[in-house]
Amino acid sequence: MKQHPYQVVITDCDHGSIQEEKEECVQIGAELALFQVREEEDLIRACKEADGLINQYALLTRRVLEQLPNCKVVARYGVGVDSVDLKAATDLGIIVANVPDYCIEEVASHAAALILTLARKTAFFDRMVKSNQWDFRQGIPIGRISGKTLGLLGSGKIGLEVAKMIFPFGVKVIAYDPYLKEVPEGIELKDFDAVLKESDFISIHCPLNDSTRHLIGEKEFKKMDKKPLLINTSRGPIIDEKSLIQALQEGLINGAGLDVLEKEPPDSKNPMLAMENVIFSPHVGFYSEESISELKRRTAKNVLDVLIGRWPGSVVNQGVKGKTRASISHD
Ligand code: NAD
Repeated sequence: MKQHPYQVVITDCDHGSIQEEKEECVQIGAELALFQVREEEDLIRACKEADGLINQYALLTRRVLEQLPNCKVVARYGVGVDSVDLKAATDLGIIVANVPDYCIEEVASHAAALILTLARKTAFFDRMVKSNQWDFRQGIPIGRISGKTLGLLGSGKIGLEVAKMIFPFGVKVIAYDPYLKEVPEGIELKDFDAVLKESDFISIHCPLNDSTRHLIGEKEFKKMDKKPLLINTSRGPIIDEKSLIQALQEGLINGAGLDVLEKEPPDSKNPMLAMENVIFSPHVGFYSEESISELKRRTAKNVLDVLIGRWPGSVVNQGVKGKTRASISHD
């Protein structure tokens, strides 16, 4: 006889502890086992009895999922679910869930921090003072922040949060977002070219897909009349990096704040590494102690919800509705 009513397996994860996941599992008496497996055969062996899986990087292919007769749900840490064969999961009646909104505040405050750091040149002055130069003139001109215009490319969850954080500085916010159903309060929607033309700061918050890859390239930089500061906390390939380097060299923009790059980490010869008006962070926008703790808890909760017969917070493969292996109320 099974000692626990449910078995939950973490296929792999690089978090320091699984305390939050354990605390959630205890609530429904589920047993939790952590493996660090990536190969198909190892995954099948580790997960074959599991009622639910928590997954980070290990590839859950059709072959793996087909060998897991009890598995009713796969919960992925974070937003992306490229590690799971969604079609196979749907065919097999396995719900795939994610956590799309655990770090909205973190990414938004990171973008706001990059805007303010570039606008006030604080990173530049920090480097100067540490090299024994105490001379503010080396950083001028410095513009006043109030009265400037921030242009958002994408005004979903994170873009909107950036706007809310930046409004109190007296900044006007405009946005290009072709898929918005409602105009967010306080933001003026404009067409793409108008945002490029009118913005003093441009912050990118759209997803990376076929239509946004290299959304900003040579042609677009030439339309940026106000030589804006360009901030990217979304995905590197949304900006054509060659054109960005050229735009910086030709002075078409005043600076860039980059949490994401086309190639992460950058080559040591990347010319932007030597530019005073470009600041970097190593794709850390998502991170805070609180956001990671929330992510771990909500990922585990997605599994437990399914096991006790409830739809989890965010189902990725909506096509599974009506044919799930789990007995979900109103399935
Ligand atoms: P979201 O889905 O809430 O918002 C994205 C917005 O972009 C939507 O409103 C959508 O209509 C809009 N959009 C889609 N295509 C567009 C286009 N061609 N032009 C302009 N707008 C377009 O997503 P979110 O939660 O705000 O996240 C935004 C992005 O932030 C994610 O896609 C991800 O790439 C990035 N992100 C980065 C980090 C990090 O650590 N730096 C962490 C989380 C998310």
